[in-house]
Formats: sequence, C-alpha cells, structure tokens
Amino acid sequence: MHYEVSVDASLEHLRARVCFDGAAPASLGPGVDAAARALVEATDDAGRALPVRRDRIDLSSLGDGACMRYRVDLEIARRASRFAGRVDGELVSSQGAWLWRDRRRVPEGGATIRFTLPDGLFASTPWPVAPDGTQTLGPSAFQRPGFVAFGHRAPRVIERQHVRARLVRLGEGWQLDEDALAHWLEEAIDGIATVQGRFPVDDLLVILVPAPGSGMGFGMVRRGGGFSAIYMVGRESTPESLRESWVTWHELSHLQLPALPQRDAWMYEGLATYYQEVLPARLGIQTPTAAWSELVDGFDRGASSRGGGALTEASTTMFATGGFGRVYWAGTAFALEADVALRQRGSSLDDALRRAAPRWRGDLEVWDSARVCAAWDAPLDASVLRPLRDRYAGQVGFPATAPLLSRLGVRRDADGVALASAELSAVRESIMRR
Ligand SMILES: [Zn+2]
Repeated sequence: MHYEVSVDASLEHLRARVCFDGAAPASLGPGVDAAARALVEATDDAGRALPVRRDRIDLSSLGDGACMRYRVDLEIARRASRFAGRVDGELVSSQGAWLWRDRRRVPEGGATIRFTLPDGLFASTPWPVAPDGTQTLGPSAFQRPGFVAFGHRAPRVIERQHVRARLVRLGEGWQLDEDALAHWLEEAIDGIATVQGRFPVDDLLVILVPAPGSGMGFGMVRRGGGFSAIYMVGRESTPESLRESWVTWHELSHLQLPALPQRDAWMYEGLATYYQEVLPARLGIQTPTAAWSELVDGFDRGASSRGGGALTEASTTMFATGGFGRVYWAGTAFALEADVALRQRGSSLDDALRRAAPRWRGDLEVWDSARVCAAWDAPLDASVLRPLRDRYAGQVGFPATAPLLSRLGVRRDADGVALASAELSAVRESIMRR
C-alpha cells in the first residue's frame, strides 16, 4: 500500500490517494472506529464515488494495481482520537484517526506514505524516512497509535547518546525559546542514557504541547510505527521546573523496556516510576533522602489503593477500577527488589537492562514480562528475576516493602525518611549513585 497524503493550510481536511501493489483489500476503515464519521468522500482514481458500507469504504470494484482517494474532516477525526488536540492552528493526532486501512490485516509487504504539504507546514511523524521523503509504515503503525503533528516549525534534530531525536514544539506564547527546550531534551537524553550507557532507542520524536502555568504536566510515549513522546509543558516553565519534573524522567524511562501487554502494566509502570525517582537523585536534581521518601510515600499510597485480584488482573482492569496506585507502586517495589537482588550478585537493574536491551532495541512487537525476565536472567548463572516476576504477577494484595526497606536502612521518621546504617546500606547508596 502506498499513501500520498496532503492537507490544506488551515488543517481542515486531509486528502489521501492510496495505491495498491496487486489486489486491493475488500475494504478500508479507520484505525479508530469513532473516526469513521470524519469521512467526507471516497472515490476511485477517476473520481467516481465508492460505496461506503458499515463505516468501511468498499473496494470490491477496484482492479489489480488500482488507486483510490478519500478525504476526511480533520476536526472530526481529531475528536475521535485520544490525546489529540489543536493549538494555535496546529494539530497533533494519532494516525489511526485518518489513516484508513484494511481492518482485517496489516498490509503484506508493508506500506509507504508521502506527505505533500502547503509551504510552511511540516508533518512530524515517528516513521522511518528515506532520502526521497518516503516514509515506511511498519506493521505496528497499523496496530498501535503514534503521535503525528502538523505544525509550522520544522523539527529540531538532536543527536547524542546513540539516539536521533527530533523535537517539535507546537503553539505560541512560549517563555522558553527553542534553545532552552532543546537543552531540556539533551539533559533528559543524557540522564536516561546513564542507565544503559546509551539512550535506549535509536530514533524518537518528541512533541511539546503548550499548557497553562509552569512545569511539565501530562506525558505519554507511543510505539505505532516508531517511538514518539508527547509532553504538555507549561508556557511559563523555567528550565529548572522542567528538569525537576518527574514526568520528564518517567515517560522516557518507558523506552527502557519493549512494548508489553496491559496485564504487564505493573512492570512497565513500575520500572518507569522507580527510575523517575532514582535518576533525579543520581543526577543531583533531588537528594537520595528525597528519592527514598518519594518511594516510601508511594508504597504507602499503593498499599491503600483499590484494585483487587492478582497484580496482572489489577493491571488489566486499572482503567476501569482506578486502581493505578497499586499497579504502579507494586511494580516499583518489584523494580527495587529486582535491583537489590541483582546488586547483591554484583550486577544491577541498569546492568540487566544494558545487557538485554539489544534484544528488543528497535523492536516494535509486543513482548511480555516473562520474556523480559528471561532476557534479564540469561547472562546470570541463576534464575533471579523470573521467579520474582512470577511471585509479583500472581500476588493478591500489596507486597510487603517494610522488611526490605529496613534491611536497606530506610527508616520512617517525622519528616519522611531517615537513612541509617544497616545490612544493605551499601546497596542503598549504590542505587542512588551515578
Ligand atoms: Zn507511565
């Protein structure tokens, strides 16, 4: 499948011409069901209307090697897509809202896309691009959402720590200029790279969307066709407020692991939550005591959070039950317990990630927590993380963190926590040390 996509300068409509090598699929539908009503027209290449049945464009009249065209209302498509928005005449969306495809299977042999845009408009996508501007849509571009921005600024390319990152900011009224935002991302890349000795992925699109106030608000990483991250950033942010925000460190830490299914949310959220506290301590942004205090507070909140059943079940149902606290913080307890166990063997969670990451770097397929633990355990002479994972995944109720914290010399006091000499205090210090 080959897509040629154009939009008008005011981003009202998106037009696509789609050509097929060989036979066309029976029909095309949007990646997001609710985006079906954004369809304005669908025709063959000669402009004859194609029938639309049950929210699908019927292609049964197309011959081999044929092309067709469709047009969607971008505002209706945007509203059908989660985490999409318009700001100062620019747009961020997921391709599922406007990239109509065969809903029964991903295109055999892959797909390509080319954008033809009005002067001064740029499409920023997470997809690999050839020198002639053609982008490749791998299977995951049809299986999962990704962030795509249509804006007035060309992305700024930042290459360091083995990643080629592209930074694009949308909207107007920013107090920080482009250099300051680029510096924020450079620092974040360097900080994340301290875990594995390099940034965990080769390519990354980072989209900054302005929000009221100061500091980093919501953030999210997606893996549809490539790696993309979105951050909501207060227009009045200072460089300090951005680097001090846990959101900076949490979101990018998700890239340390491959894609995992919802039932393993405890593992990917736990690892990101662990590093959101550990990395700022290592980088001197917060003290080790403050990091331990955040971890202990989190464990308390997790223990009192809703969401019953085994941890895998609580992970699967957390959006319905609101039991995020238990999932995130039980997963954080796993990351801490795993890190301590590895450090007692002369390794560390950083080391395990560094050794295993080449197995999944650039892999956009969905792994699972058992496979990740097998990869972590492979260089060890024993099965360490797999049994720990099995215990956590099946556990009903919050894990008992007090005994481990006590052995680490992390004690609660009136102001939060105090750090004391204990059996594992050397391990405790090494966790928060760069
Ligand atoms: Zn997260």
